[in-house]
Amino acid sequence: MQADRGGRSSCTRAVSVGSFDSRLLKREQIPLSLRLNEAAMSTLPMEVIQVIGQTMAKIVPVTIALGLFFTVLSHFWACNPGKPWWRKRELITDICYWFFVPVFARIFRIGLLVLGAAVLFNIHEPDELIAFYDNGHGPLSELPLWVQAILFLVASDFMLYWLHRMFHGGGFWKYHAIHHSSEDLEWISAARFHPVNLFIGTILVDVILLIAGISPNIMLWVGPFTTFHSAFVHANLNWTLGPFKYALATPVFHRWHHTSLEEGGNTNFAGTFPLWDILFGTFRMPENRLPDGYGVDDQVIPTEIGGQLAYPFRQ
Ligand SMILES: [Zn+2]
Ligand SMILES: [Zn+2]
Repeated sequence: MQADRGGRSSCTRAVSVGSFDSRLLKREQIPLSLRLNEAAMSTLPMEVIQVIGQTMAKIVPVTIALGLFFTVLSHFWACNPGKPWWRKRELITDICYWFFVPVFARIFRIGLLVLGAAVLFNIHEPDELIAFYDNGHGPLSELPLWVQAILFLVASDFMLYWLHRMFHGGGFWKYHAIHHSSEDLEWISAARFHPVNLFIGTILVDVILLIAGISPNIMLWVGPFTTFHSAFVHANLNWTLGPFKYALATPVFHRWHHTSLEEGGNTNFAGTFPLWDILFGTFRMPENRLPDGYGVDDQVIPTEIGGQLAYPFRQ
């Protein structure tokens, strides 16, 4: 999830560690039913703690694995050699987002799914909700799962491309500027998104496609892929993938997006498929050059998470 200064709503799809899997709503049954049962509201704090605990149990091992993986790769193929990722500026800020964003995303995704089913389909009971979302619904859910997964990736990426361009312009930039505020761009910077950017970005797009009928079972593959890929494109790597640079967003592709306007910051809005940038004239991959120098050049963004969350509302 940034623009007419320069960048994309979800620069790249926000990290979705802990996103729902095939048991999406079954696992969410407790908080779901609580939302629908005011009498049970007194136990809500416990349920929220449970959701946080479940999400953390998933994130910690994934984070350790990604940390080790990118430590090795960046050692041999750094785009901007100098220091390892754990010595980046504002590491604590990025770690806070890394653990906070998946919890926030999960809670709001459930809320929007419940709201969408109630408003659009008049579905209110927890059991009905679970049946409605469990394996998708309507014609899209009849397609083979791998087709639904590809459809989800392509359709969400197309929507996120345009949302990203929207976030780079006018009144939306102040929210997306948070994502662009990392001056040392590393894999762990992938989760640095303001909640407003997340909400009018990956959360909304995911919910639209699930309400359209796509089965949440695809998240078993799509979830890990988007988590890995969003960390990958932010990693300090000089990889362009050669001729495949037109097929899949790479670290060099996305690092160009994070550069200043003069360097080409208002390009490469696609999260996963550079096809959108090629089609709409925003693709930029200079030959024989690597991007260098990241951050926001038109505003001063606070460096700690509290200041960043408040920042857009103070503008
Ligand atoms: Zn951007
Ligand atoms: Zn980014």
